[in-house]
Amino acid sequence: MPVPFVYNPGMANYDFGKHPFRAANVSDLREYLQPHIDDGSIDVVASEPASDDLLLAVHSPDYIEKVLRLEKRSGHLSMDTWVAPGTPDAAKAVVGGAVKAVDLALGGEDVVLCTGGFHHAGVDYGEGFCIYNDVAVAADHALGSGARKVMIIDTDAHQGNGTMDIFYRSMDVLFLSLHQHPRTLYPGRGFAHETGDGDGTGFTVNIPMFPFSRDQDYEMAFERAVRPIVEQFDPDMMIRNGGADPHYRDQLTALGMSMTGFRWMGGAIREMAKGVDAPLVDLPISGYGDHAVPGWLQIWSGATGIDLTVPFDEGAYEGHPRFPGELVHEENEKMLDEVAENLKGRWDLL
Ligand SMILES: [Zn+2]
Repeated sequence: MPVPFVYNPGMANYDFGKHPFRAANVSDLREYLQPHIDDGSIDVVASEPASDDLLLAVHSPDYIEKVLRLEKRSGHLSMDTWVAPGTPDAAKAVVGGAVKAVDLALGGEDVVLCTGGFHHAGVDYGEGFCIYNDVAVAADHALGSGARKVMIIDTDAHQGNGTMDIFYRSMDVLFLSLHQHPRTLYPGRGFAHETGDGDGTGFTVNIPMFPFSRDQDYEMAFERAVRPIVEQFDPDMMIRNGGADPHYRDQLTALGMSMTGFRWMGGAIREMAKGVDAPLVDLPISGYGDHAVPGWLQIWSGATGIDLTVPFDEGAYEGHPRFPGELVHEENEKMLDEVAENLKGRWDLL
């Protein structure tokens, strides 16, 4: 059975011009996948741009209006995010892709590949290169289409503040994020003590990773926290988002994951989803540098079990000028103790 890859050429128009975010990655990805499309292991599925109704499930009418107003004069939503002509339509194409991916997953596909993960957009704000939050719309759409419990695993180096805020009081959507420690990176949110509110208390899980965290730190966090929560929450839909910016060569971050780690991570999440009989929608988009698309393909190789990798020389981590060579495993161990303590009574972590 081919694995569906949801692709809408409109996604590639999500572009800010001279900016670290590189929309052309999406068309490069499409090209890299061509041999697998030709041999029948990947199936390209078209999607429609999201309707305003879908956006309104997550964003306020005032915000959507503001985006369209700003588009006319290329105005800013935040310091790093502006609305150039055409970007709201491209953002709608991105959201429509994620919604289509959810439909396919709920229709019986085990794993659905798409691009996206604009997790810094909230109900009434856009920032961090994000205009509309496709992850949140997708999760909300899953709930409206028969899923009872949705789990979002956000593995982007930056914490998903928009997604977190949208579901902070919800117990139907469990938002779990592993990200570079908020004291050291935008958006400065996602401390271990931010665990949700009201009915949603315990349904937001933040796992800050110290700068220079490596694959083995992520493996420990998965064993001690991610896996137990997946098993205990028992979702019927899983959405993973986050691209290649935890890689040690990333230009905007200071984490230390490798290509091998990405592949392991994609596989580990797929295995966990299988274990609870939930389909998985996988949405990468980030990565600042030429490791971005090769990194996504590593994650997807893990998630699909198909070798989609492309040759990429990541160089040696040891001796890399940006890394001091010190291990931060102990600090991460202590952080996981804190995460477990904060969630006591809701989830039993190791
Ligand atoms: Zn990021």
